[in-house]
Amino acid sequence: MSAPVIVIGSGIGGLVTALALAPRRVALVTKAAPGGETSTFWAQGGIAAALGDDDSAALHLEDTLAAGDGLCDRQAAEAIIAGAAEAIGFLQRHGVAFDRDGDGRLARGLEAAHARRRILHAGGDATGAAVICALTRAVAETPSITVMPDTEVRRLIAADGAVCGLVAAGNGETLTIPASRVVIATGGLGGLYEISTNPPGNFGQGVMLAARAGALLADMEFIQFHPTALAADLRPLPLISEAVRGEGAVLVNEKGERFLAATPGGELAPRDVVARAIAAQIARGGRVYLDARQALGRGFPARFPAIAGICTKAGINPAEELIPVRPAEHYAMGGIAVDQRARTSVTGLWAVGECAATGLHGANRLASNSLLEAAVTGLAAARDIAGLADAPGRPLPSACLPRPARIGIVRDIVSRELGVLRTGAGLRRSIEALLALVEAEEAASDPALVALSIAVFAHRREESRGAHARSDFPLKKPHSARQAMTLSQTLAAAHALCHTPCRRSA
Ligand SMILES: Cc1cc2nc3c(=O)[nH]c(=O)nc-3n(C[C@H](O)[C@H](O)[C@H](O)COP(=O)(O)OP(=O)(O)OC[C@H]3O[C@@H](n4cnc5c(N)ncnc54)[C@H](O)[C@@H]3O)c2cc1C
Repeated sequence: MSAPVIVIGSGIGGLVTALALAPRRVALVTKAAPGGETSTFWAQGGIAAALGDDDSAALHLEDTLAAGDGLCDRQAAEAIIAGAAEAIGFLQRHGVAFDRDGDGRLARGLEAAHARRRILHAGGDATGAAVICALTRAVAETPSITVMPDTEVRRLIAADGAVCGLVAAGNGETLTIPASRVVIATGGLGGLYEISTNPPGNFGQGVMLAARAGALLADMEFIQFHPTALAADLRPLPLISEAVRGEGAVLVNEKGERFLAATPGGELAPRDVVARAIAAQIARGGRVYLDARQALGRGFPARFPAIAGICTKAGINPAEELIPVRPAEHYAMGGIAVDQRARTSVTGLWAVGECAATGLHGANRLASNSLLEAAVTGLAAARDIAGLADAPGRPLPSACLPRPARIGIVRDIVSRELGVLRTGAGLRRSIEALLALVEAEEAASDPALVALSIAVFAHRREESRGAHARSDFPLKKPHSARQAMTLSQTLAAAHALCHTPCRRSA
């Protein structure tokens, strides 16, 4: 019998991969309960899929490339967008009931920077919850999948450029698991930021695992800040989906001015444009609100039941009152560099979902392209793994369990220096501080390593493009390319910048 494939993480990426591998044996290792602590659960808007009669993959590609601001990998984007129908069919077969219109066709919503209504949703604005409920049920009913809940993977073990196992903490024990096929599906890195829409425990552990195993990382400087998180004293910050603006809600400041009225696209301009405009209002001491009173009014709770519930909990009636909003870290465009089969640069290691950098998003993600990307790449990884012969087992080198990560000190640095608007001096300060934390090899070393990658990539990008904005380089360069580096290269770049000798390679 084949050794099980290890899938790490139970958001949409991990669940789709595990289900698509059936009947091949899978061990689904996940930090909380299946589907728990996932960004997937919180997804509101839906999944972009060009399935309408007025739409096409070419139009969806055009919008994706425009949002990506010159840095998308066109071929990767074409392949992912072309995979939409298969991915939606897979989700439906596994129990996801997308909303339908009065004629029984799939209902399609509009979101920022999409030229067509193409956002499929479920339960109104509870798409992610619907996906998690259906797929976790399907996993529970699939005998080939063994779920290992409450188990946190802290290191991959690799030898000669190939994965051979992992070390995890589960139920108070250290688990050393041999494995020659590992799929990382650990989601985003919002936990590195004080203000984020992501579950706080997701701080890019998969990126760290892959980097320490020698994998290439790509596009780490591109972090998307969602313009309209609810400005409340909550962590993570709940999101007021773009779809609300898609239905006509407008942004106003404390004086009631529509400060985006003259911006091309207005409230539905690309996310980075809207986030920077809101951040500028807040930086001058102002406040920003979403006004849905005219566009939706009493219809708000019916169209957006989950968001209406969030507002009610915060004491706001969105049908009659303004909703206070602010930007919050939301999505990492970069991560572990993968090809179209979701393979990383390390043999036996795949990455799917938000932790992977496929090249689809370029410098900025088009809204609702991420659930699509996670589902399509999950299917691609499963197909690739299923086509491979079993790898021979290897003796496992000894490995110890690192201590649980300490994030607080890293979060302070990241929130101060790696936000919506960056400066060369701030990036340099963050690199010095983070490099010391990485090399101290204490409990902050793992999150510091992910943050250091963001800072080094951002420092090397001397321009403003997509989600990456620098006050000292406010313009786009005429020629620009994606960046990719291993951890050794990132550390060498950091040392060169700090004028300190490299202490070790990784
Ligand atoms: C509030 C919100 C709204 C969003 N709305 C949309 C939307 O409408 N449309 C859209 O396309 N995208 C949306 N996104 C983005 C999208 O939800 C995510 O990009 C996507 O769900 C990521 O899926 P994933 O499977 O990669 O990761 P996740 O769903 O985040 O799952 C990660 C999994 O990995 C586990 N994990 C992490 N580290 C470890 C470890 N070391 N060991 C074991 N397990 C680990 C976690 O516990 C979790 O199970 C939204 C995101 C947020 C936060």
